[in-house]
Amino acid sequence: MRDSIKVPFFRPSIGDEEIEEVVATLRGGWLTTGDRARRFEDGFADFLGGNVEAIAVNSATAGLHLALEALGIGPGDEVIVPDLTFTATAEVVRYLGAEVKLVDVDPETLCMDPDRFADAISGRTRAVMPVHYGGLSCDMDRLGRIAASNGIEIVEDAAHALPTRWNGRLIGALGTAAAVFSFYANKTITTGEGGMLVTSRREIAERARIMRLHGIDRDSFDRFSRPGAGWRYDIVAPGFKYNLSDLAAGVGLRQLRKADLFRDQREAVAARYFEAFSDLPLRLPARGAQGGHAWHLFAVRLEPDAPVDRDGFIALLTERGIGSSVHYAPLHQMTYWKERYGLKAEDFPVAEDAFRSLVTLPLFPAMRDEEIDAVTGAVRDILTAGRQVAAGA
Ligand SMILES: *Cc1c(COP(=O)(O)O)cnc(C)c1O
Repeated sequence: MRDSIKVPFFRPSIGDEEIEEVVATLRGGWLTTGDRARRFEDGFADFLGGNVEAIAVNSATAGLHLALEALGIGPGDEVIVPDLTFTATAEVVRYLGAEVKLVDVDPETLCMDPDRFADAISGRTRAVMPVHYGGLSCDMDRLGRIAASNGIEIVEDAAHALPTRWNGRLIGALGTAAAVFSFYANKTITTGEGGMLVTSRREIAERARIMRLHGIDRDSFDRFSRPGAGWRYDIVAPGFKYNLSDLAAGVGLRQLRKADLFRDQREAVAARYFEAFSDLPLRLPARGAQGGHAWHLFAVRLEPDAPVDRDGFIALLTERGIGSSVHYAPLHQMTYWKERYGLKAEDFPVAEDAFRSLVTLPLFPAMRDEEIDAVTGAVRDILTAGRQVAAGA
């Protein structure tokens, strides 16, 4: 082995300040949702700069569920979802008894193809869920126009998109029904597990706040119960248990302050990759407008003339100690989605073709120079001298 250095697919950037915040929370004695969660929500809304409310939840999946629930989506309704995403985007539609319509993606961005979205609209379509794949914004102008002219709500799966810009504006502040961010361990900022639902619509925020915690409507009850009745609450619906703990929110407060720094660091790694890979048989990701890409993922596609196939490429990276992943095996190939809707590969030619050659390389803010060199060196070696391996793989 030429490189002895191992590179994980992802390593979170947790500083002393996050650790001290957790310790302070533990010592403070208030562990569940409280002041830190409220400050995290306020700080998040401020960060986006728009006129938005932020509702902290224990996962993006929970936030997506709450957003659709607040829109009243249920049995008989259809929601349009891109084929190339994590199953969470689609599964929340089924939680509510509504049906998922999967559509193919754009070959350049791997985001939902606006033309396929338009084709998929029926009389039952209530919402569309664009996924800002890898941290690059979907074409929100075209999607927005199509949605508006058909009376369709937009719930953005913004799990990859902090901070991502579309026409200079941050995702989360575009005025869609909702945008939902993830703070899962390998997302652009993390709370271990967590998420944030962002909306500019009062009624969505109110409903999501109530349904986030068991359907408890303390505010309306407090209006009728006078001082001394602090324990009183009313239940207005069978809600969920989706609140974010102060332990997690404390980590989020500290991570949020570094969101722009992390993005710049990830962009610098991406720039190194673009430079190192320009002459290799790799299709590199779309870069979007200057400074607008969150660079959550660096997903490449092997060109047809590459000396190895995707699985061979991953095996060789693994052999050299380089972590990698695939985002995503398209949903139409998954047993549940395939069988429920009788899906056929030929209806998703772009996702099908992309998946065959798709690999995500390591990219995280704390990547050291020698780690970046190890990745670029391994990729170059495999793609320029990989012939003997292709035959053996
Ligand atoms: C991570 C992710 C989710 C789910 O986020 P959680 O916080 O783990 O629930 C949803 N959609 C996409 C595209 C994701 O990458």
